[in-house]
Amino acid sequence: MDKVVIYPGSFDPITYGHINIIERALKIFRKVIVAVSYSQSGKKPFFSMEERVGIIKEIFRRERRVVVEPFKGLLVDYVKSRNVDTVLRGLRTVADFEFELQMSLANKKMSGNIETVFMMTEDRYSFLSSSIIKDILSLGGRADELVPDVVIRRFSDRLKERKTDIVSWE
Ligand code: ADP
Repeated sequence: MDKVVIYPGSFDPITYGHINIIERALKIFRKVIVAVSYSQSGKKPFFSMEERVGIIKEIFRRERRVVVEPFKGLLVDYVKSRNVDTVLRGLRTVADFEFELQMSLANKKMSGNIETVFMMTEDRYSFLSSSIIKDILSLGGRADELVPDVVIRRFSDRLKERKTDIVSWE
């Protein structure tokens, strides 16, 4: 219970799958730093950095052991800058495993002191990803069992803004 762990990701947006990993990590670690990355392999995120960080802070506003902050650049550099040596990632599928194995070995190569620990998804969240949420919500589907209300509200605000942008542009 003495250790601090960094949970990095794009969280575009955070889902109950991520939240489940954070809540379970709080049983093992003293503090969880949710580190929100700027880029998602070159893709432009739907939510801005401020929105992604703001949403996670709102969800965990009563949990003082969860800290949320943005990070840029190499994960190993960021982890060292926080004086932490443990990184947390979630695993859903074999595809996740292959990607995560490669990433954790690359990080190990760059910094031998950093350990990555993996937590298996709970089966009810094994299909859940941020991309699926964006697809469901943009097509008008229900996602109230998959993401907190704040995500649904912010998503619909964003969509309305974008529609207004298009109308005013036309
Ligand atoms: P990234 O772009 O870094 O993969 P994500 O926000 O998609 O960022 O995911 C962050 C971490 O959370 C990753 O380790 C991912 O495997 C894990 N994760 C995402 N969704 C789930 C889920 N439903 N259950 C368990 N872990 C998950």
